[in-house]
Amino acid sequence: MENSTGTIVITGASRGIGAATALMAAAEGYSVCVNYRVNDAAAEEVVNRIIAEGGRAIAVAADVAYEDAVSAMYDRVEDELGPVTALVNNAGILEPQGSFLDIDVDRLRRVIETNVVGAFVCAQEAVRRMSRSRGGSGGGIVNVSSVAARSGAPHEYIDYAASKGALDAMTAGLAREVAPDGIRVNLVRPGFIYTDMHADGGEPGRVDRLANGIPLQRGGEPDDVARAILWLLSDRADYAVGVSLDVTGGI
Ligand code: NAD
Repeated sequence: MENSTGTIVITGASRGIGAATALMAAAEGYSVCVNYRVNDAAAEEVVNRIIAEGGRAIAVAADVAYEDAVSAMYDRVEDELGPVTALVNNAGILEPQGSFLDIDVDRLRRVIETNVVGAFVCAQEAVRRMSRSRGGSGGGIVNVSSVAARSGAPHEYIDYAASKGALDAMTAGLAREVAPDGIRVNLVRPGFIYTDMHADGGEPGRVDRLANGIPLQRGGEPDDVARAILWLLSDRADYAVGVSLDVTGGI
């Protein structure tokens, strides 16, 4: 087991890939902030599982797109768990599948607000606190993009794909900007992963429908992605900067 220490903030960690990453991070020795937006019970459940296994965790509600809420979250995490050394920008939303012309502007704004503005706000707050030039001790950030940034998700959700493309570009720039300050920024691109997100898109069985087209012949599990995220944050990846790591089974 990796002997990681420090404090990790994982956004949208009450379920899916975020929850899997929270549980695995705690098992590796991190103190974990389980960020969530509305589902108190689900976030507390993740925290209780971590504590039951001897780890440290707190659940903190904050909509990632709101600077004041995010700043207050980091303050609370630093008070209760210590300086933040890692951020996983995992929170993300998509809306029902449809064609390009189905994407009205309100929907587009909602998707960009969480997936792009939220990731920027959380990363800015992390950089303010981690930068060596600002008195911090450095750290790591992993952004959770998607294979949709490559495919564009035609006939499904081009808005979501575009928001993930924005994360790819943000990662490339931020990684190079803050590496001299001791912060490594990288990105994972999950493929088709078994989580409840596909029900939000209107097709709960989407991963099973697509599994035959995956070279590895199976859909991905949240743990498959969590392992990649935690590897990028670990010292084993200490020369990886601005990397986009596809975790897709080969698509
Ligand atoms: P999920 O819907 O289970 O989890 C997303 C979490 O983010 C939820 O807990 C949700 O409440 C939270 N969230 C949404 N808006 C938020 C906000 N404004 N503030 C705070 N939290 C918020 O989905 P998942 O599949 O676990 O997705 C996790 C990440 O992985 C997302 O960024 C998603 O785009 C990405 N991803 C998923 C897949 C997949 O196949 N499941 C594929 C590629 C990328």
